[in-house]
Amino acid sequence: MENQLFIYNTLSRKKEAFKPLVPGKVGLYVCGPTVYSNSHLGHARPFITFDLLYRYLTFLGYKVRYVRNITDVGHLEDEVEGTGEDRITKKARLEQIEPMEVVQKYMNTFHRNMDDLNVTPPSIEPRASGHIIEQIQVIKDIQKNGYAYEANGSIYFDVEKYNQKYKYGILSGRNLDDIKTNTRQLDGQSEKKNSFDFALWKKAAPEHIMRWPSPWSDGFPGWHLECSAMSTKYLGEKFDIHGGGMDLTFPHHECEIAQNTASRGEESVQYWMHNNMITINGQKMARSLGNFITLDELFTGKHEILEQAYSPMTIRFFILQAHYRSTIDFSNEALQASEKGLERLMAAVKTLAELKASEQSTVDLAGLEEKCYAALSDDLNSPIAIAHLFDGVKMINSIKAGTESISATDLEELRKFYHTIVFDVLGLKEEQASAGGDNHILAETLELLINLRRDAKANKDWATADKIRDELNEIGIELKDTKDGVEWSLK
Ligand code: ZN
Repeated sequence: MENQLFIYNTLSRKKEAFKPLVPGKVGLYVCGPTVYSNSHLGHARPFITFDLLYRYLTFLGYKVRYVRNITDVGHLEDEVEGTGEDRITKKARLEQIEPMEVVQKYMNTFHRNMDDLNVTPPSIEPRASGHIIEQIQVIKDIQKNGYAYEANGSIYFDVEKYNQKYKYGILSGRNLDDIKTNTRQLDGQSEKKNSFDFALWKKAAPEHIMRWPSPWSDGFPGWHLECSAMSTKYLGEKFDIHGGGMDLTFPHHECEIAQNTASRGEESVQYWMHNNMITINGQKMARSLGNFITLDELFTGKHEILEQAYSPMTIRFFILQAHYRSTIDFSNEALQASEKGLERLMAAVKTLAELKASEQSTVDLAGLEEKCYAALSDDLNSPIAIAHLFDGVKMINSIKAGTESISATDLEELRKFYHTIVFDVLGLKEEQASAGGDNHILAETLELLINLRRDAKANKDWATADKIRDELNEIGIELKDTKDGVEWSLK
Protein backbone atom coordinates (compact mmCIF):
# COMPACT_ATOMS: atom_id res chain seq x y z
CA MET A 1 0.00 0.00 0.00
CA GLU A 2 1.53 3.28 -1.06
CA ASN A 3 -0.06 5.18 1.77
CA GLN A 4 1.61 3.70 4.86
CA LEU A 5 -0.47 4.43 7.94
CA PHE A 6 1.36 5.30 11.15
CA ILE A 7 -0.41 5.14 14.48
CA TYR A 8 0.67 6.12 17.95
CA ASN A 9 0.80 3.02 20.11
CA THR A 10 0.14 3.84 23.77
CA LEU A 11 2.01 0.67 24.74
CA SER A 12 5.31 1.61 23.05
CA ARG A 13 4.72 5.38 23.40
CA LYS A 14 5.69 6.02 19.81
CA LYS A 15 4.27 6.20 16.32
CA GLU A 16 4.57 2.87 14.56
CA ALA A 17 3.96 1.79 10.97
CA PHE A 18 0.69 -0.10 11.00
CA LYS A 19 1.03 -3.71 9.87
CA PRO A 20 -1.98 -5.95 10.32
CA LEU A 21 -1.57 -9.54 11.53
CA VAL A 22 -3.33 -10.80 8.42
CA PRO A 23 -2.56 -8.84 5.24
CA GLY A 24 -5.55 -6.79 4.07
CA LYS A 25 -7.61 -7.39 7.23
CA VAL A 26 -7.95 -5.45 10.46
CA GLY A 27 -9.50 -6.50 13.76
CA LEU A 28 -10.57 -3.42 15.74
CA TYR A 29 -12.06 -3.40 19.25
CA VAL A 30 -13.34 -0.25 20.95
CA CYS A 31 -14.83 -0.01 24.44
CA GLY A 32 -18.47 0.97 24.06
CA PRO A 33 -20.87 2.78 26.39
CA THR A 34 -22.27 1.81 29.77
CA VAL A 35 -25.94 2.33 29.12
CA TYR A 36 -27.60 3.86 32.14
CA SER A 37 -27.97 7.52 31.13
CA ASN A 38 -27.86 9.81 28.12
CA SER A 39 -24.64 10.11 26.12
CA HIS A 40 -22.79 13.39 26.50
CA LEU A 41 -20.28 15.30 24.40
CA GLY A 42 -17.36 13.50 26.08
CA HIS A 43 -18.78 10.15 24.87
CA ALA A 44 -19.06 11.37 21.29
CA ARG A 45 -15.30 11.78 21.00
CA PRO A 46 -14.07 8.15 21.11
CA PHE A 47 -16.84 6.99 18.80
CA ILE A 48 -16.12 9.74 16.24
CA THR A 49 -12.35 9.18 16.56
CA PHE A 50 -12.61 5.44 15.93
CA ASP A 51 -15.22 6.00 13.24
CA LEU A 52 -12.60 8.09 11.44
CA LEU A 53 -10.08 5.27 11.91
CA TYR A 54 -12.59 2.69 10.65
CA ARG A 55 -13.46 4.83 7.62
CA TYR A 56 -9.82 5.59 6.82
CA LEU A 57 -8.76 1.94 7.09
CA THR A 58 -11.64 1.03 4.79
CA PHE A 59 -10.56 3.77 2.37
CA LEU A 60 -7.01 2.33 2.40
CA GLY A 61 -8.49 -0.94 1.23
CA TYR A 62 -8.57 -2.96 4.45
CA LYS A 63 -11.47 -5.19 5.33
CA VAL A 64 -12.18 -4.18 8.92
CA ARG A 65 -14.05 -6.17 11.54
CA TYR A 66 -15.08 -3.55 14.06
CA VAL A 67 -16.30 -4.76 17.45
CA ARG A 68 -17.74 -2.28 19.95
CA ASN A 69 -19.40 -3.59 23.09
CA ILE A 70 -22.34 -2.51 25.21
CA THR A 71 -21.76 -2.65 28.97
CA ASP A 72 -25.06 -3.69 30.47
CA VAL A 73 -24.41 -5.98 33.44
CA GLY A 74 -24.82 -3.46 36.25
CA HIS A 75 -21.40 -2.56 37.60
CA LEU A 76 -20.87 -0.93 40.93
CA GLU A 77 -20.61 2.81 41.41
CA ASP A 78 -17.17 2.48 42.90
CA GLU A 79 -15.58 -0.10 40.66
CA VAL A 80 -12.15 0.12 42.22
CA GLU A 81 -13.32 -0.34 45.79
CA GLY A 82 -16.10 -2.73 44.82
CA THR A 83 -18.63 -0.79 46.83
CA GLY A 84 -21.76 1.27 46.20
CA GLU A 85 -24.88 0.37 44.33
CA ASP A 86 -24.94 -1.19 40.87
CA ARG A 87 -25.39 1.81 38.56
CA ILE A 88 -28.06 0.30 36.34
CA THR A 89 -30.11 -0.92 39.32
CA LYS A 90 -29.82 2.50 40.94
CA LYS A 91 -31.22 4.16 37.83
CA ALA A 92 -33.97 1.52 37.61
CA ARG A 93 -34.99 2.27 41.19
CA LEU A 94 -34.99 6.02 40.54
CA GLU A 95 -37.04 5.65 37.36
CA GLN A 96 -39.11 2.75 38.76
CA ILE A 97 -38.43 0.43 35.83
CA GLU A 98 -36.69 -2.91 35.23
CA PRO A 99 -32.88 -2.76 34.91
CA MET A 100 -33.10 -4.17 31.37
CA GLU A 101 -35.57 -1.38 30.52
CA VAL A 102 -32.90 1.11 31.60
CA VAL A 103 -30.41 -0.66 29.35
CA GLN A 104 -32.79 -0.73 26.38
CA LYS A 105 -33.85 2.89 26.77
CA TYR A 106 -30.33 4.33 26.89
CA MET A 107 -29.01 1.93 24.27
CA ASN A 108 -31.71 3.19 21.88
CA THR A 109 -30.79 6.80 22.64
CA PHE A 110 -27.10 6.01 22.14
CA HIS A 111 -27.79 4.44 18.74
CA ARG A 112 -29.94 7.40 17.68
CA ASN A 113 -27.19 9.84 18.74
CA MET A 114 -24.53 7.85 16.87
CA ASP A 115 -26.74 7.79 13.81
CA ASP A 116 -27.20 11.58 14.02
CA LEU A 117 -23.41 11.96 14.21
CA ASN A 118 -23.05 9.71 11.14
CA VAL A 119 -20.98 7.20 13.14
CA THR A 120 -20.89 3.90 11.24
CA PRO A 121 -22.38 1.04 13.28
CA PRO A 122 -19.78 -1.57 14.28
CA SER A 123 -19.65 -4.94 12.52
CA ILE A 124 -20.52 -6.64 15.82
CA GLU A 125 -21.96 -4.97 18.93
CA PRO A 126 -21.79 -7.62 21.66
CA ARG A 127 -23.49 -7.08 25.01
CA ALA A 128 -21.78 -8.09 28.23
CA SER A 129 -25.01 -9.68 29.53
CA GLY A 130 -25.02 -12.01 26.52
CA HIS A 131 -21.47 -13.26 27.19
CA ILE A 132 -21.53 -14.42 30.82
CA ILE A 133 -20.48 -17.97 29.86
CA GLU A 134 -17.41 -16.67 28.00
CA GLN A 135 -16.48 -14.46 30.95
CA ILE A 136 -16.78 -17.36 33.39
CA GLN A 137 -14.44 -19.35 31.13
CA VAL A 138 -11.78 -16.58 31.24
CA ILE A 139 -11.99 -16.62 35.06
CA LYS A 140 -11.53 -20.40 35.08
CA ASP A 141 -8.43 -20.07 32.86
CA ILE A 142 -6.94 -17.38 35.11
CA GLN A 143 -7.70 -19.50 38.18
CA LYS A 144 -6.14 -22.58 36.59
CA ASN A 145 -2.94 -20.62 36.00
CA GLY A 146 -2.90 -19.47 39.60
CA TYR A 147 -3.59 -15.75 39.25
CA ALA A 148 -6.97 -15.56 40.94
CA TYR A 149 -8.34 -16.39 44.37
CA GLU A 150 -11.77 -16.90 45.81
CA ALA A 151 -13.17 -15.07 48.83
CA ASN A 152 -16.76 -15.57 50.02
CA GLY A 153 -18.06 -16.46 46.56
CA SER A 154 -16.24 -13.62 44.79
CA ILE A 155 -13.13 -14.08 42.63
CA TYR A 156 -10.29 -11.55 42.62
CA PHE A 157 -7.28 -11.11 40.38
CA ASP A 158 -4.01 -11.56 42.31
CA VAL A 159 -2.06 -8.54 41.05
CA GLU A 160 1.02 -9.15 43.22
CA LYS A 161 1.40 -12.75 42.03
CA TYR A 162 0.90 -11.71 38.42
CA ASN A 163 3.51 -8.98 38.80
CA GLN A 164 6.11 -11.55 39.88
CA LYS A 165 6.08 -13.12 36.43
CA TYR A 166 4.65 -10.43 34.16
CA LYS A 167 4.63 -6.70 34.59
CA TYR A 168 1.47 -5.03 35.86
CA GLY A 169 1.17 -1.41 34.66
CA ILE A 170 2.94 -1.62 31.27
CA LEU A 171 0.26 0.33 29.40
CA SER A 172 -0.16 3.22 31.83
CA GLY A 173 3.53 3.30 32.71
CA ARG A 174 2.92 2.63 36.41
CA ASN A 175 4.72 0.06 38.47
CA LEU A 176 3.27 -1.86 41.33
CA ASP A 177 5.38 -0.07 43.96
CA ASP A 178 3.91 3.30 42.90
CA ILE A 179 0.44 1.82 42.83
CA LYS A 180 1.01 0.45 46.34
CA THR A 181 2.06 3.79 47.78
CA ASN A 182 -0.86 5.52 46.08
CA THR A 183 -3.62 3.18 47.19
CA ARG A 184 -5.25 3.06 50.57
CA GLN A 185 -4.44 0.11 52.76
CA LEU A 186 -7.32 -2.21 53.46
CA ASP A 187 -9.08 -1.71 56.76
CA GLY A 188 -9.38 -5.42 57.54
CA GLN A 189 -13.05 -5.49 56.50
CA SER A 190 -12.21 -6.29 52.90
CA GLU A 191 -12.09 -9.80 51.55
CA LYS A 192 -9.36 -8.80 49.07
CA LYS A 193 -5.70 -9.63 49.79
CA ASN A 194 -4.55 -6.27 48.48
CA SER A 195 -6.49 -3.11 47.78
CA PHE A 196 -5.24 -3.04 44.16
CA ASP A 197 -6.62 -6.54 43.40
CA PHE A 198 -9.65 -6.28 41.15
CA ALA A 199 -12.82 -8.34 40.95
CA LEU A 200 -13.29 -10.94 38.22
CA TRP A 201 -16.57 -12.12 39.73
CA LYS A 202 -18.64 -10.49 42.44
CA LYS A 203 -21.11 -12.37 44.57
CA ALA A 204 -24.38 -10.43 44.38
CA ALA A 205 -25.89 -8.92 47.51
CA PRO A 206 -29.51 -10.07 48.06
CA GLU A 207 -30.95 -6.80 46.69
CA HIS A 208 -28.79 -6.91 43.54
CA ILE A 209 -31.17 -7.66 40.64
CA MET A 210 -28.75 -8.27 37.78
CA ARG A 211 -27.22 -11.64 38.65
CA TRP A 212 -26.18 -14.85 36.95
CA PRO A 213 -25.25 -18.32 38.25
CA SER A 214 -21.57 -19.29 38.32
CA PRO A 215 -19.45 -22.06 39.92
CA TRP A 216 -18.69 -19.67 42.79
CA SER A 217 -21.91 -17.77 43.51
CA ASP A 218 -24.91 -16.04 41.99
CA GLY A 219 -23.34 -12.78 40.96
CA PHE A 220 -21.97 -10.74 38.10
CA PRO A 221 -18.66 -10.32 36.26
CA GLY A 222 -16.10 -7.62 37.01
CA TRP A 223 -16.11 -4.62 34.71
CA HIS A 224 -12.81 -5.33 32.92
CA LEU A 225 -13.63 -8.92 32.09
CA GLU A 226 -16.19 -8.43 29.33
CA CYS A 227 -13.74 -6.70 26.99
CA SER A 228 -11.19 -9.53 27.38
CA ALA A 229 -13.86 -12.16 26.75
CA MET A 230 -15.65 -10.49 23.84
CA SER A 231 -12.58 -9.21 21.96
CA THR A 232 -11.14 -12.75 22.02
CA LYS A 233 -14.42 -14.32 20.97
CA TYR A 234 -14.89 -12.11 17.90
CA LEU A 235 -11.34 -11.09 16.94
CA GLY A 236 -9.23 -14.00 18.14
CA GLU A 237 -6.50 -14.40 20.75
CA LYS A 238 -4.40 -11.87 18.87
CA PHE A 239 -5.85 -8.88 17.09
CA ASP A 240 -4.70 -5.56 15.65
CA ILE A 241 -6.11 -2.48 17.33
CA HIS A 242 -7.80 -1.78 20.67
CA GLY A 243 -9.16 1.70 21.18
CA GLY A 244 -10.86 3.77 23.84
CA GLY A 245 -10.71 7.01 25.78
CA MET A 246 -7.49 7.88 27.60
CA ASP A 247 -9.35 7.66 30.91
CA LEU A 248 -9.73 3.90 30.32
CA THR A 249 -5.97 3.28 30.18
CA PHE A 250 -5.91 2.67 33.91
CA PRO A 251 -7.34 0.59 35.40
CA HIS A 252 -9.61 -0.77 32.66
CA HIS A 253 -7.17 -1.54 29.84
CA GLU A 254 -4.34 -2.38 32.21
CA CYS A 255 -6.61 -5.02 33.75
CA GLU A 256 -7.61 -6.31 30.32
CA ILE A 257 -3.93 -6.89 29.50
CA ALA A 258 -3.40 -8.63 32.84
CA GLN A 259 -6.45 -10.88 32.31
CA ASN A 260 -5.44 -11.84 28.77
CA THR A 261 -1.88 -12.55 29.77
CA ALA A 262 -2.82 -14.44 32.93
CA SER A 263 -5.34 -16.61 31.10
CA ARG A 264 -3.13 -17.65 28.18
CA GLY A 265 0.42 -16.41 28.67
CA GLU A 266 0.46 -13.52 26.21
CA GLU A 267 -1.20 -10.21 25.42
CA SER A 268 -3.69 -9.96 22.53
CA VAL A 269 -3.37 -6.43 21.24
CA GLN A 270 -0.79 -5.13 18.72
CA TYR A 271 -1.70 -1.43 18.85
CA TRP A 272 -3.40 0.41 21.71
CA MET A 273 -4.96 3.74 20.72
CA HIS A 274 -6.42 6.31 23.11
CA ASN A 275 -8.25 9.53 22.42
CA ASN A 276 -7.85 12.50 24.73
CA MET A 277 -10.67 14.11 26.70
CA ILE A 278 -13.06 16.99 26.08
CA THR A 279 -12.66 19.61 28.77
CA ILE A 280 -14.97 22.34 29.90
CA ASN A 281 -13.20 25.27 31.57
CA GLY A 282 -10.09 23.10 31.65
CA GLN A 283 -11.73 20.21 33.54
CA LYS A 284 -12.53 16.81 32.01
CA MET A 285 -16.21 16.54 30.98
CA ALA A 286 -17.62 13.56 32.85
CA ARG A 287 -20.87 12.29 34.23
CA SER A 288 -19.18 11.72 37.57
CA LEU A 289 -18.07 15.38 37.72
CA GLY A 290 -21.54 16.70 36.83
CA ASN A 291 -20.18 19.15 34.23
CA PHE A 292 -21.45 17.43 31.13
CA ILE A 293 -23.76 18.47 28.28
CA THR A 294 -25.75 15.65 26.70
CA LEU A 295 -25.79 15.24 22.93
CA ASP A 296 -29.54 15.85 22.84
CA GLU A 297 -29.02 19.12 24.73
CA LEU A 298 -26.38 20.17 22.20
CA PHE A 299 -28.62 19.29 19.24
CA THR A 300 -31.55 21.28 20.70
CA GLY A 301 -29.66 24.07 22.48
CA LYS A 302 -31.48 23.28 25.74
CA HIS A 303 -28.77 23.75 28.34
CA GLU A 304 -28.03 26.88 30.31
CA ILE A 305 -24.48 27.29 29.01
CA LEU A 306 -25.43 26.86 25.35
CA GLU A 307 -26.00 30.04 23.34
CA GLN A 308 -27.69 28.12 20.52
CA ALA A 309 -28.36 24.62 19.15
CA TYR A 310 -25.44 22.90 17.39
CA SER A 311 -26.16 20.39 14.67
CA PRO A 312 -24.68 16.88 14.85
CA MET A 313 -22.38 17.65 11.91
CA THR A 314 -21.09 20.77 13.69
CA ILE A 315 -20.24 18.57 16.68
CA ARG A 316 -18.56 16.00 14.43
CA PHE A 317 -16.56 18.68 12.63
CA PHE A 318 -15.60 20.31 15.95
CA ILE A 319 -14.17 16.99 17.16
CA LEU A 320 -12.36 16.29 13.87
CA GLN A 321 -10.77 19.75 13.92
CA ALA A 322 -8.57 18.65 16.83
CA HIS A 323 -6.07 15.81 16.76
CA TYR A 324 -7.51 12.89 18.69
CA ARG A 325 -4.60 12.85 21.16
CA SER A 326 -5.04 16.54 22.10
CA THR A 327 -7.61 17.82 24.55
CA ILE A 328 -10.48 19.91 23.19
CA ASP A 329 -11.88 22.66 25.34
CA PHE A 330 -15.60 23.19 24.93
CA SER A 331 -16.89 26.72 24.34
CA ASN A 332 -19.72 28.34 22.41
CA GLU A 333 -17.16 30.37 20.42
CA ALA A 334 -15.25 27.24 19.36
CA LEU A 335 -18.46 25.49 18.26
CA GLN A 336 -19.65 28.57 16.38
CA ALA A 337 -16.30 28.72 14.57
CA SER A 338 -16.72 25.04 13.61
CA GLU A 339 -20.24 25.72 12.38
CA LYS A 340 -18.98 28.51 10.11
CA GLY A 341 -16.03 26.44 8.88
CA LEU A 342 -18.30 23.52 8.05
CA GLU A 343 -20.67 25.81 6.13
CA ARG A 344 -17.75 27.15 4.11
CA LEU A 345 -16.52 23.63 3.32
CA MET A 346 -19.95 22.37 2.31
CA ALA A 347 -20.58 25.48 0.19
CA ALA A 348 -17.30 24.77 -1.66
CA VAL A 349 -18.41 21.18 -2.32
CA LYS A 350 -21.58 22.61 -3.90
CA THR A 351 -19.59 25.17 -5.89
CA LEU A 352 -17.38 22.35 -7.13
CA ALA A 353 -20.40 20.62 -8.66
CA GLU A 354 -21.20 23.78 -10.63
CA LEU A 355 -17.68 24.69 -11.85
CA LYS A 356 -16.96 24.78 -15.58
CA ALA A 357 -13.81 23.24 -17.00
CA SER A 358 -11.28 25.17 -19.12
CA GLU A 359 -8.67 24.05 -21.64
CA GLN A 360 -5.88 24.05 -19.09
CA SER A 361 -5.35 23.87 -15.34
CA THR A 362 -3.49 26.55 -13.43
CA VAL A 363 -4.01 24.66 -10.15
CA ASP A 364 -1.96 21.80 -8.65
CA LEU A 365 -4.25 19.02 -7.48
CA ALA A 366 -1.71 16.30 -6.86
CA GLY A 367 -0.10 18.35 -4.12
CA LEU A 368 -3.41 18.85 -2.36
CA GLU A 369 -4.51 15.21 -2.36
CA GLU A 370 -1.10 13.97 -1.31
CA LYS A 371 -0.92 16.38 1.61
CA CYS A 372 -4.40 15.45 2.86
CA TYR A 373 -3.77 11.73 2.80
CA ALA A 374 -0.27 12.14 4.22
CA ALA A 375 -1.81 13.98 7.19
CA LEU A 376 -4.39 11.24 7.80
CA SER A 377 -1.73 8.55 7.49
CA ASP A 378 0.30 10.39 10.11
CA ASP A 379 -1.63 9.08 13.12
CA LEU A 380 -4.98 10.38 11.82
CA ASN A 381 -4.02 14.04 11.79
CA SER A 382 -7.47 15.25 10.82
CA PRO A 383 -6.90 18.97 11.70
CA ILE A 384 -4.01 19.15 9.23
CA ALA A 385 -6.03 17.31 6.58
CA ILE A 386 -8.90 19.77 7.12
CA ALA A 387 -6.50 22.74 6.88
CA HIS A 388 -5.41 21.43 3.46
CA LEU A 389 -9.05 21.02 2.46
CA PHE A 390 -9.54 24.72 3.24
CA ASP A 391 -6.59 25.56 0.96
CA GLY A 392 -8.57 23.64 -1.64
CA VAL A 393 -11.65 25.72 -0.81
CA LYS A 394 -9.65 28.86 -1.72
CA MET A 395 -8.65 27.15 -4.96
CA ILE A 396 -12.27 26.25 -5.75
CA ASN A 397 -13.41 29.81 -5.08
CA SER A 398 -10.61 31.23 -7.28
CA ILE A 399 -11.68 28.95 -10.14
CA LYS A 400 -15.24 30.12 -9.65
CA ALA A 401 -14.08 33.76 -9.68
CA GLY A 402 -12.09 33.10 -12.85
CA THR A 403 -8.64 33.92 -11.43
CA GLU A 404 -7.61 30.26 -11.75
CA SER A 405 -8.72 27.62 -14.24
CA ILE A 406 -9.12 23.86 -14.23
CA SER A 407 -9.14 21.25 -16.99
CA ALA A 408 -11.97 18.74 -17.41
CA THR A 409 -9.81 15.84 -16.18
CA ASP A 410 -8.62 17.78 -13.14
CA LEU A 411 -12.14 18.94 -12.34
CA GLU A 412 -13.37 15.37 -12.41
CA GLU A 413 -10.48 14.36 -10.13
CA LEU A 414 -11.09 17.26 -7.71
CA ARG A 415 -14.78 16.40 -7.43
CA LYS A 416 -13.98 12.78 -6.76
CA PHE A 417 -11.38 13.71 -4.16
CA TYR A 418 -13.66 16.09 -2.22
CA HIS A 419 -16.49 13.63 -2.33
CA THR A 420 -14.30 10.84 -0.99
CA ILE A 421 -12.56 12.77 1.76
CA VAL A 422 -15.48 14.91 2.97
CA PHE A 423 -18.24 12.30 2.88
CA ASP A 424 -16.57 8.88 3.00
CA VAL A 425 -13.48 9.48 5.13
CA LEU A 426 -14.38 12.40 7.42
CA GLY A 427 -17.97 11.14 7.49
CA LEU A 428 -19.59 14.56 7.10
CA LYS A 429 -23.00 14.79 5.47
CA GLU A 430 -25.50 17.33 4.27
CA GLU A 431 -27.90 18.13 7.05
CA GLN A 432 -31.65 18.43 6.90
CA ALA A 433 -33.08 21.83 7.63
CA SER A 434 -34.00 22.03 11.29
CA ALA A 435 -36.25 24.28 13.30
CA GLY A 436 -33.27 25.82 15.08
CA GLY A 437 -31.20 26.65 12.02
CA ASP A 438 -31.52 29.78 9.90
CA ASN A 439 -31.69 27.69 6.80
CA HIS A 440 -32.30 29.87 3.79
CA ILE A 441 -32.90 26.88 1.49
CA LEU A 442 -35.90 25.79 3.52
CA ALA A 443 -37.23 29.33 3.64
CA GLU A 444 -36.87 29.82 -0.10
CA THR A 445 -38.43 26.44 -0.91
CA LEU A 446 -41.39 27.31 1.30
CA GLU A 447 -41.71 30.70 -0.35
CA LEU A 448 -41.93 28.91 -3.70
CA LEU A 449 -44.63 26.52 -2.45
CA ILE A 450 -46.61 29.38 -0.90
CA ASN A 451 -46.50 31.26 -4.23
CA LEU A 452 -47.59 28.15 -6.14
CA ARG A 453 -50.52 27.79 -3.75
CA ARG A 454 -51.44 31.46 -4.21
CA ASP A 455 -51.39 30.99 -8.02
CA ALA A 456 -53.49 27.83 -7.70
CA LYS A 457 -56.05 29.73 -5.64
CA ALA A 458 -56.10 32.57 -8.17
CA ASN A 459 -56.89 29.95 -10.83
CA LYS A 460 -59.60 28.48 -8.59
CA ASP A 461 -57.59 25.24 -8.50
CA TRP A 462 -58.65 24.47 -4.92
CA ALA A 463 -57.48 20.84 -5.09
CA THR A 464 -53.83 21.87 -5.67
CA ALA A 465 -53.98 24.64 -3.08
CA ASP A 466 -55.33 22.22 -0.44
CA LYS A 467 -52.85 19.53 -1.44
CA ILE A 468 -49.91 21.90 -0.82
CA ARG A 469 -51.28 22.99 2.57
CA ASP A 470 -52.21 19.44 3.71
CA GLU A 471 -49.00 17.80 2.65
CA LEU A 472 -46.85 20.49 4.24
CA ASN A 473 -48.94 19.98 7.34
CA GLU A 474 -48.14 16.27 7.25
CA ILE A 475 -44.39 16.91 7.25
CA GLY A 476 -44.79 19.31 10.14
CA ILE A 477 -45.06 22.73 8.51
CA GLU A 478 -48.18 24.77 9.19
CA LEU A 479 -49.43 27.47 6.81
CA LYS A 480 -51.62 30.25 8.19
CA ASP A 481 -53.58 32.69 6.04
CA THR A 482 -53.38 36.11 7.69
CA LYS A 483 -54.42 39.56 6.48
CA ASP A 484 -50.76 40.25 5.63
CA GLY A 485 -50.43 37.12 3.53
CA VAL A 486 -49.40 33.56 4.33
CA GLU A 487 -47.22 32.74 7.31
CA TRP A 488 -45.58 29.42 7.97
CA SER A 489 -44.35 27.80 11.13
CA LEU A 490 -42.89 24.49 12.22
CA LYS A 491 -45.34 22.54 14.32
ZN1 ZN B 1 -13.50 -2.13 27.61
